[in-house]
Amino acid sequence: MTSPETLRVLNRVFGYDSFREGQHEIVDHVTAGGDALVLMPTGGGKSLCYQIPALIREGVGVVISPLIALMQDQVDALRALGVRAGFLNSTQDPDERRLVEAEFLSGELDLLYLAPERLRAESALRLLDRGKVSLFAIDEAHCVAQWGHDFRPDYLALSELHERWPEVPRIALTATATKATHAEIASRLNLEDARHFVASFDRPNIQYRIVGKNEPRKQLLELLRTEHAGDAGIVYCLSRRSVEDTAEFLVRNGIDAVPYHAGLDAPTRAKHQSRFLREDGLVVVATIAFGMGIDKPDVRFVAHLDLPKSVEGYYQETGRAGRDGLPSTAWLAYGLQDVVQQRKMIDGSEGDAAHRRRLSAHLDAMLALCETVECRRVQLLAYFGQSGTPCGNCDTCLSPPESWDGTVPAQKLLSTIVRLRRERGQKFGAGQIIDILLGKRTSKVGQHDHDSLSVFGVGTELGDGEWRGVVRQLLAQGMIAVEGDYGTLVATEAGDEVLYRQRKVMLRREPERAAKPAKSRRAAVSAELPEDAAPVFERLRAWRAATAKEQGVPAYVIFHDATLRQIATESPSSLTALGTVNGVGDNKLAKYGEQILEAVNTLPSTPPS
Ligand code: ADP
Ligand code: ZN
Repeated sequence: MTSPETLRVLNRVFGYDSFREGQHEIVDHVTAGGDALVLMPTGGGKSLCYQIPALIREGVGVVISPLIALMQDQVDALRALGVRAGFLNSTQDPDERRLVEAEFLSGELDLLYLAPERLRAESALRLLDRGKVSLFAIDEAHCVAQWGHDFRPDYLALSELHERWPEVPRIALTATATKATHAEIASRLNLEDARHFVASFDRPNIQYRIVGKNEPRKQLLELLRTEHAGDAGIVYCLSRRSVEDTAEFLVRNGIDAVPYHAGLDAPTRAKHQSRFLREDGLVVVATIAFGMGIDKPDVRFVAHLDLPKSVEGYYQETGRAGRDGLPSTAWLAYGLQDVVQQRKMIDGSEGDAAHRRRLSAHLDAMLALCETVECRRVQLLAYFGQSGTPCGNCDTCLSPPESWDGTVPAQKLLSTIVRLRRERGQKFGAGQIIDILLGKRTSKVGQHDHDSLSVFGVGTELGDGEWRGVVRQLLAQGMIAVEGDYGTLVATEAGDEVLYRQRKVMLRREPERAAKPAKSRRAAVSAELPEDAAPVFERLRAWRAATAKEQGVPAYVIFHDATLRQIATESPSSLTALGTVNGVGDNKLAKYGEQILEAVNTLPSTPPS
């Protein structure tokens, strides 16, 4: 079905020429009154899937979203497009609320955002009864799924929407890709009969890179300086302490960075989050408490200084980069200590054996992604049950690692572990075992008389870093395990097979210094623009910053980077030409058109004639 109406709205209101994958079908289906369950990655463009039907259908589209702190920004962004939007949540005073309710009842709204807990109040339900609802959009729909969401009870109550308003279409949306979550959303929200739309979970503009951890903060600084100068990004660390230390380190080195973790007081957290959303080019160093629902489109990089606990977590966190579709980096530094620490955390975790097995399986999948010699993206998509071909935009595609037969080194390592236990009744951590293999006469070696072991010095063919890589990979492959508080190593059954039954071990070559991807990317956002467009872009950015500040809205609410880039490149000389730029709809054209033409056309780059 072709629907000129939806295309017209896409073009006139949002300023876009074409739909992205999946959007058109969903928009048509919901506009026609159908129920939908939509799985689409972050940045895939879920919002349009309910916003356009809400604009076309008679009545007000009601959007249920748990992200109360972001409602104001979402509504501001819609108003900037000329869409009549409002919200109702606990942050408002009664007067503000009454005003929005009156607008809703008199049909002066296209979209109404509601916090889920509102719908449990009979008064809110009666309000909806008295107005005309065009559709219900249930955003962040994975909140109904079992684990770990505070909003869960409120979301479960949403299953009743259908009974109360059977004729109103419902569209549930999530970026959580796993099959289990998908099934649970469908059943909890009574959406089994809805049409299910599952988009590709690939994020082609994100470049995935996983590097060996060396001096992680220095490695991070190098990444920021060489590839992301002046860019906005998120750096994830596991502990509050390392969040603080890393933020300080970056600031000391001239990077505009702020910390964010649950130990900071609420006003400080709110201030840092709001600066991140509103300013250009701020770096937030955070625990994973930060980021849910952050829909800042121009996050240019997400860096992990510690290993995420699962592939889902990794995918979600890295997914916050590059919603606007421009090139972005997902960078992770990972080392032996990460594996040791996470195994220890799992062993010490509360809950039964089944729970620990689940955590362990999550970690194993994450480790497999780190150690793969294949395309990261193919592996990532395979985890979500989707297929792909080598992408050319991840570190393993750009500089393919070698895989080598590591059976002999693995046997030497395992043999050292086994001998220490058998001959001496001892267990040690990786450091001591590697020192023995390398034949290092340290004081600890002397103290324990380890230089008299037959394996002392049998491993000089590899360096210290390479041995750490071997240990890490054997841990990842489950041939050795860590035990106890000191991270001592033991051989597993699989390890015994290597040692006694010649099971082959394939390892990934560990460069002593991580090689840079062959094709190094642009530096900051403004690079890679044609030479004479770069100053125009910077000028437009400055205009945007001033305008956003004046209006008290995030810069991206005025225009996205992608739109400014296109304007700078095409350098339009008339309003008509400007109107064809992606992201310039009727409303923004009328409001900012003249200012932009002026900024574009009064540049020093135009030589005097
Ligand atoms: P999601 O909610 O799926 O993470 P959004 O709805 O926030 O994604 O959209 C991500 C970004 O892509 C937004 O900045 C949005 O304006 C932009 N976008 C969405 N659809 C299109 C389209 N058809 N053409 C161009 N840009 C789009
Ligand atoms: Zn790849």
